[in-house]
Amino acid sequence: MRVFVKDTEIVMPGDKLATEEEFLPERGVFNENGYLFSLLVGDLFLGRGKIGVNPLLRDIRTFKAGDVVLCVITDLLPSIAFASISSIRIDSKDYISLKEGKIINPSEHNRYSDSKKLNFSDYNVGDVLLAKIKYNDEDSYMLDIASSPELGILFSICENCGAPMVYDAKLHMLACSKCKHVNNKDMSTAYGNIEEALKFIEKNL
Ligand SMILES: [Zn+2]
Repeated sequence: MRVFVKDTEIVMPGDKLATEEEFLPERGVFNENGYLFSLLVGDLFLGRGKIGVNPLLRDIRTFKAGDVVLCVITDLLPSIAFASISSIRIDSKDYISLKEGKIINPSEHNRYSDSKKLNFSDYNVGDVLLAKIKYNDEDSYMLDIASSPELGILFSICENCGAPMVYDAKLHMLACSKCKHVNNKDMSTAYGNIEEALKFIEKNL
């Protein structure tokens, strides 16, 4: 069995946990090229073919405007995406999100906004994003994924076959590593690279 960590061990974002053949990823875990990685600081749990990470809550700080966060799309509408924001540990401090995140798709006709329109029609629930907190609403964080090239989709899987989507330099978009399905998500320049993503998060906290 390929498991790289022990049950109940504390894991960090980007830690390699296991291979996809052995476990179904649950909360706090993502799949990249057949390997399962932690998205969270937390306690690993293993059981019945499933692997997940329970977030660890101590030395807690909450995110503030200007912070860059990792999040996963949970719901998608033509004009708005909802995302769950991952807790993260940087310099032995745990940053947590007590609220969900929202990304508003700027309207093509909105002359008050200079943001480009996002390609929400190509997004999927489960896409992992690198986003910046624009402001702190009463019940949610307003997120921005367009103001710098590092922001945007960080990981995604094929909506047809579930294999990882990888950047195709010829097409300038994401292509499925198995069935060649393509889509045009608004990609981060750190796409597929958790280390680069974490460096960018650290720089902006
Ligand atoms: Zn595919």
